[in-house]
Amino acid sequence: MNLNLYGHAGHWLMVDCGVTFNSPLAPQRNEQQPAGGQAEVLAADPAFISAQQQNLCGIVITHAHEDHIGALPQLWQRFNCPVYTTPFSAEILRRKLAGSALLGKMPIIEVQSGATLNVGPFCLHWLAITHSIPEPHALLIKTAAGTVFHTADWKMDAGPITGRAFKQAVFKRLAQQNITAMVCDSTNALREGFSVSESDCAVALHQVIKAATGRVVVTGFSSNVGRLISLARIAAKTGRYLALLGRSLNNMVGAARATGYWPDELTLADAGHIGYLPKEEVLVIATGSQGEPRAALSRLADDNHPLLLLDQGDLVIFSSIIIPGNEMLISRLVEKFNARNIQTLQSHNTTLPIHVSGHPNRGELDLLYRWVQPQIAVPVHGEAAHLAANAGVAKAAGVPQQLTGLNGDLFVLAPTPRLWPGFAKTGRIALA
Ligand SMILES: [Zn+2]
Ligand SMILES: [Zn+2]
Repeated sequence: MNLNLYGHAGHWLMVDCGVTFNSPLAPQRNEQQPAGGQAEVLAADPAFISAQQQNLCGIVITHAHEDHIGALPQLWQRFNCPVYTTPFSAEILRRKLAGSALLGKMPIIEVQSGATLNVGPFCLHWLAITHSIPEPHALLIKTAAGTVFHTADWKMDAGPITGRAFKQAVFKRLAQQNITAMVCDSTNALREGFSVSESDCAVALHQVIKAATGRVVVTGFSSNVGRLISLARIAAKTGRYLALLGRSLNNMVGAARATGYWPDELTLADAGHIGYLPKEEVLVIATGSQGEPRAALSRLADDNHPLLLLDQGDLVIFSSIIIPGNEMLISRLVEKFNARNIQTLQSHNTTLPIHVSGHPNRGELDLLYRWVQPQIAVPVHGEAAHLAANAGVAKAAGVPQQLTGLNGDLFVLAPTPRLWPGFAKTGRIALA
């Protein structure tokens, strides 16, 4: 649940406003709770900034993942200021606000990739980067006191499917800008080497689906539009019709179509027809890779989906990871399929990259630190072990100072970098 605040000359800028899920589906709680319990949605406690909303000059959303945008609909009234983001993320935000009075009230200012904009005392520059959703952006935040390079979520992907390839030169040039601090994604800071490209994932999925003889169901993360496009291309290449099962998938493809990310030639079959097709002509993308009890995949496992019944010899591919806490639910799902002789393939059971992460491994972190050469590294986006590992990479790459902290910590970045004493506000609030 990302929520960053940058302060200068009495003004504040918010970067991202996301949620996290305290899952009642986690194994230790699942045993006591009825199936289908709602996950608790949490956000960072915004009390510090909502108490001085007149000093907040804007909110930037770097990309449309829930952990960066999800809390905005419910918290925005406490901030009451313009929201700056690129067209795809703006489309996702408008869809979230549909039907609410906020839609006409929240000023959503669409910014083009590469734009420079002054917001209060902050000069902002949007830098396209690669990740696992359309239009991920890093941000350069310049003030009279110094410049922050806020990476947001990223990886180095030479073949991202949506958007342009990662451009080294853009980031190498940052070294000339005297970056005070680089605030950087730590998600995969414990993993050696480099992340795998979305294009390699497409090749792996094609290989697996080409060899299948029955129906194929792929489950994964709906927001990865590049993955959905790859699957639509694979359907065309393997003589299968592609259908989507699940509301969030239809919403994402709708947003991708509205913003020009969905290639016109990639058609989708009506989900209502998919049950009548010969099994070797069926490719379905279904929601529910984390075992969510009411999602399409769980209904397929229970053999009570209204549009599709799977059969012996069909294949279910998990183009996803197991988010910690969901192990039990996912393994139950796999057991249900296997008991009916429906094959399953999970990313940890194959050497093929049927899922790839959108975050940087240690090799990528090391390169980016060496290119950008910031004075300070501020690792974010991870548990304490990930932040410490990211700081270690920064140190080895020659970054003179690392500031690692807890949620709610406030750092002074210039002129004398330090932790602001006694400030830590580690609170979370429940949204729903
Ligand atoms: Zn994130
Ligand atoms: Zn993300």
